[in-house]
Amino acid sequence: MPLIKCPACNKDVSSEAPACPSCGQPIKSSIEKGTGGAINPRDPIHFLGIVVVIIIIVAVVVYIANALN
Ligand SMILES: [Zn+2]
Repeated sequence: MPLIKCPACNKDVSSEAPACPSCGQPIKSSIEKGTGGAINPRDPIHFLGIVVVIIIIVAVVVYIANALN
Protein backbone atom coordinates (compact mmCIF):
# COMPACT_ATOMS: atom_id res chain seq x y z
CA MET A 1 0.00 0.00 0.00
CA PRO A 2 1.67 3.21 -1.13
CA LEU A 3 2.03 6.28 1.03
CA ILE A 4 0.41 9.48 -0.12
CA LYS A 5 0.40 13.03 1.21
CA CYS A 6 -2.62 14.01 3.27
CA PRO A 7 -4.35 16.82 1.34
CA ALA A 8 -5.11 18.62 4.60
CA CYS A 9 -1.96 18.32 6.76
CA ASN A 10 0.53 17.05 4.14
CA LYS A 11 1.72 14.15 6.27
CA ASP A 12 2.42 10.68 4.87
CA VAL A 13 -0.72 8.55 5.02
CA SER A 14 -1.40 5.08 3.67
CA SER A 15 -3.59 5.29 0.60
CA GLU A 16 -5.53 2.36 2.08
CA ALA A 17 -6.41 4.33 5.21
CA PRO A 18 -9.99 5.57 5.36
CA ALA A 19 -8.87 8.82 6.98
CA CYS A 20 -5.69 10.64 7.95
CA PRO A 21 -4.60 9.46 11.43
CA SER A 22 -3.19 12.91 12.17
CA CYS A 23 -6.05 15.23 11.26
CA GLY A 24 -8.96 12.95 10.35
CA GLN A 25 -9.12 14.09 6.72
CA PRO A 26 -10.95 11.39 4.71
CA ILE A 27 -8.36 9.78 2.42
CA LYS A 28 -9.87 6.92 0.48
CA SER A 29 -13.02 8.80 -0.51
CA SER A 30 -11.14 11.93 -1.56
CA ILE A 31 -8.28 10.25 -3.44
CA GLU A 32 -9.72 7.04 -4.84
CA LYS A 33 -13.09 8.14 -6.12
CA GLY A 34 -15.37 5.29 -7.09
CA THR A 35 -13.44 2.27 -5.82
CA GLY A 36 -16.24 1.62 -3.35
CA GLY A 37 -18.77 1.30 -6.14
CA ALA A 38 -19.71 4.94 -6.74
CA ILE A 39 -19.06 5.95 -10.35
CA ASN A 40 -17.59 9.35 -11.07
CA PRO A 41 -18.62 10.25 -14.65
CA ARG A 42 -15.83 12.84 -14.78
CA ASP A 43 -13.26 10.03 -14.56
CA PRO A 44 -13.16 8.77 -18.20
CA ILE A 45 -10.73 5.90 -17.58
CA HIS A 46 -12.75 4.55 -14.68
CA PHE A 47 -15.97 5.04 -16.62
CA LEU A 48 -14.50 3.18 -19.61
CA GLY A 49 -13.54 0.32 -17.30
CA ILE A 50 -17.13 0.05 -16.07
CA VAL A 51 -18.41 0.05 -19.66
CA VAL A 52 -15.95 -2.70 -20.63
CA VAL A 53 -17.04 -4.82 -17.65
CA ILE A 54 -20.71 -4.36 -18.60
CA ILE A 55 -19.97 -5.35 -22.23
CA ILE A 56 -18.13 -8.48 -21.02
CA ILE A 57 -21.03 -9.42 -18.73
CA VAL A 58 -23.55 -8.94 -21.57
CA ALA A 59 -21.36 -11.02 -23.90
CA VAL A 60 -21.17 -13.84 -21.34
CA VAL A 61 -24.94 -13.75 -20.81
CA VAL A 62 -25.57 -13.88 -24.58
CA TYR A 63 -23.06 -16.74 -24.92
CA ILE A 64 -24.78 -18.72 -22.15
CA ALA A 65 -28.22 -18.02 -23.67
CA ASN A 66 -27.02 -19.29 -27.05
CA ALA A 67 -25.40 -22.35 -25.45
CA LEU A 68 -28.68 -23.31 -23.78
CA ASN A 69 -30.59 -23.30 -27.08
ZN1 LIG B 1 -3.98 14.86 7.67
